[in-house]
Amino acid sequence: MGKNIGVYICSGCEIGNCINTEKTCQVAMEEFNLSHAKVHSALCSVEGYNFILTDIEEHKLKAVLIAACSPRVKTEVFDFPDNILLERVNLREQVAWCFEYGEDMQMAADDYLRMGIVKLKNTTVSEPYIAENINSEILVVGGGISGLSSAIEGAKAGYKIHLVEKENTLGGKLNTLYKQYPSRAPFNTLTDPVLKNKLDEVTSLENITVYTSTTIEKISGQPGSFDVKLLNGKTQNLKVGAVVAAMGWEPYDANKLGHLGYGKSPNVITNEEFEKMVKENPGLSLPPNILFIQCAGSRDKNHLPYCSSYCCCTSLKQAKYIRELSPDSSVFIVYKDIRTPGLGEEFYKEVQKDDQVFFTKGVINEVLTENEKLRVNVGKTLQDEDISLQVDMIILATGMQPAGTEELNLTYRLGKGLPELKYNFSDSHFICFPYETRRTGIYAAGSVRAPMDIAACTEDASGAMFKAIQCIEAAKRGEAVHPRSGDKSYPDLFMDRCTDCKRCTEECPFGTYDETEQGTPLLNINRCRRCGICLGSCPERVINFSNFSINSVSAMIKAVEIPDEFEEKPRILVFVCENDAYPAMDMAGTKRLKYSPYVRIIPVRCLGSINKVWISDALSCGYDGILQIGCKPGENYQCHFIHGSELTETRGINIQETLQSMMLEPERIRTEFVEITDYFKIPEIINNYVETIERIGPNPFKGM
Ligand code: SF4
Ligand code: SF4
Repeated sequence: MGKNIGVYICSGCEIGNCINTEKTCQVAMEEFNLSHAKVHSALCSVEGYNFILTDIEEHKLKAVLIAACSPRVKTEVFDFPDNILLERVNLREQVAWCFEYGEDMQMAADDYLRMGIVKLKNTTVSEPYIAENINSEILVVGGGISGLSSAIEGAKAGYKIHLVEKENTLGGKLNTLYKQYPSRAPFNTLTDPVLKNKLDEVTSLENITVYTSTTIEKISGQPGSFDVKLLNGKTQNLKVGAVVAAMGWEPYDANKLGHLGYGKSPNVITNEEFEKMVKENPGLSLPPNILFIQCAGSRDKNHLPYCSSYCCCTSLKQAKYIRELSPDSSVFIVYKDIRTPGLGEEFYKEVQKDDQVFFTKGVINEVLTENEKLRVNVGKTLQDEDISLQVDMIILATGMQPAGTEELNLTYRLGKGLPELKYNFSDSHFICFPYETRRTGIYAAGSVRAPMDIAACTEDASGAMFKAIQCIEAAKRGEAVHPRSGDKSYPDLFMDRCTDCKRCTEECPFGTYDETEQGTPLLNINRCRRCGICLGSCPERVINFSNFSINSVSAMIKAVEIPDEFEEKPRILVFVCENDAYPAMDMAGTKRLKYSPYVRIIPVRCLGSINKVWISDALSCGYDGILQIGCKPGENYQCHFIHGSELTETRGINIQETLQSMMLEPERIRTEFVEITDYFKIPEIINNYVETIERIGPNPFKGM
């Protein structure tokens, strides 16, 4: 394979002004004996691309190393035939643009070229795993607005949809609505509920099969081949490729809102109860003074700490019911803030035009019953005055809680339902890939995922359905889904060495591994997100990917020339997570922020994918320190692989033991977390660590 590698170094984008690219080229030719190592002034130009392509064809190259800009950019340009191994070395953002000019910059460029070449030598072309009989049908669980919309979108895209609803009729909460608030201009008119249109559409689409009064006994399998057992008097088996979970929501239990008068007077009701009253009796006569209490249980740490998103517009809508049904009635709305997501602000402005709807910001101090009437004392109003209102009826704008997902009855070792993130809503990485739950191929839609109204649920349902379709199509091509979309590599286990220790099964965040009774891992490849956490977990080094393996990273570590300790040039190995930290480093380069040239960066799929053996390799070959930079773990949920970043902490104990056994200082390893926008912190993080290492002195293993 060595003879078939072509190395192409770009001298454009200032690289050639800072680095002696011809000298770097010599590294490839002299140290690795490669005959095709060349410099070009703009590899990303048409000429540059053809320059490489001609070599591939003429010299039957099997692998190409491009030493130029970051591998995160120009991916559409450097697109060679699938059978060509491609590796990119980042000489622009992470050498030329971030180091001061001088010999250290040249040393870094030469080292990165060495690392790239050995990586290619230890990498094979990824042959995708394509399971037999990938099924393209999609199960939608829940027949409310999200489920109906999702099913319609999927069916229109040409997929066969199985729509399952546990009640005996479709529609969910839409069945209870009298009217809907407008989500498009003109914003002054309430609209009929969309239910009829949605049901007509579902009925007209032949590729939707509806199952009402049906529950799910079991879902097993993996994307492309889930086995579903339905229960509706009898058991029915389905095979589907993906699942959309749209179980909806439940209103917050108003019995917990006694302080707002609920349960103390029949004239204190919830907005759900009021909707029902109006729907059942649209000719209803209403009393003269009606008060809405917003955030009834929402944005309250004793109840639901979050904004339920739909309740302000619902109260505005119900205020309109009152004014239309009973023009002599007055409406009072006491709010913490009026929050009208989407285009709801336009509707709010329309309702404000009615001078018999009074709005006041305030905090409810007290709700008292006075004979047939209700007295409401409000504090902290906009004028900072207390006010007291006597009304005939109070409507509580109660919040939204997600329905449980246990009813999916997943047969995953991680549990029956979808994992929850915050406040019991099912979610994955809410910033980067909101529909991806932690169960690949199962996508949450609508208010089971986050509080949202009908318009938002409709949009969300399309998003989740398209992710489900994407997942099925990716399974057909043998590719990973988000965030490593298109990756054809997958964990390959050399089982002869497996000791059944179960670390991989326990640490995989996506339940990819089932296990035998003895604990032997059983791989469900299509559940895998290719994070490499199992590779990092395995003490026996059993798990590898074609393009990311124990050997390829070890070879990269060992390829760096470690200066003799007397040269006073420390070497710091930096494992950088490719999700947030690597782009942050690129951005630091783009902004020309300078940092120490003593670092050598190895991108990893996740900090959780770092295997302990790489740490001992690095320390044994004389690196003075190891810095791991990953995505921020914890509450805000930045780690793209759930707990990969956190694992560095738990595994850190073992690593400290390694340091102790090698009689090395604990500072020789440091972990830092960054968000993608933290690029400006990169110089400080790196330079501080280099200073620490300079202070504690060289690694005693250097030169051994
Ligand atoms: S690569 Fe990640 S998702 Fe795949 S099996 Fe390993 S730990 Fe699980
Ligand atoms: S971590 Fe490695 S040794 Fe342990 S069960 Fe998994 S593959 Fe086997």
